[in-house]
Amino acid sequence: MTHSATLISYLHLCHRKLWLHARHIRMEHNSDTVAEGKLIGETTYQRRAQKWKELNLGHSKIDHYDPQTNTIREVKKSTKLEHAHVAQVQYYLYLLEKRGIQGATGLIEYPKQRKTREVVLDEVSRREVVGWIAEVERITQLSNCPDLVKKSYCRSCSFYDFCFV
Ligand code: SF4
Repeated sequence: MTHSATLISYLHLCHRKLWLHARHIRMEHNSDTVAEGKLIGETTYQRRAQKWKELNLGHSKIDHYDPQTNTIREVKKSTKLEHAHVAQVQYYLYLLEKRGIQGATGLIEYPKQRKTREVVLDEVSRREVVGWIAEVERITQLSNCPDLVKKSYCRSCSFYDFCFV
């Protein structure tokens, strides 16, 4: 199995990033964004931490799962990459279904924007997830790194120097 939540997210951001990550190629990312993202996760929601359990699904780990309400939660800094966040949560819901946990709901929280988005897995998104998994597997098996396609996201990407310098 080559898919994971990270690879599914990268599929929605950049195929080149997906391919590099799948080959365990990493670049240090010292930007404040990473630190800030961690901070949001560790402090803003500290008081509500107790009901959320960590759920390990092998290749993917869900940081926040509430077994009582069958809800998973993702906390994100910015809505800029919302489509990738939704894909990640749909993928989690799919993994839960595969393990017999039906009908879970996903919540994506954006504390800075005071916004919460609900995500469910319906017939259409379930089919999409299956397609994404196949696409991740196809891209990771390419023998060459996918061509560089510049996007606005590149400036925040840890591979920026690798791609542009
Ligand atoms: S810098 Fe841009 S092109 Fe390079 S891996 Fe990151 S997102 Fe992809």
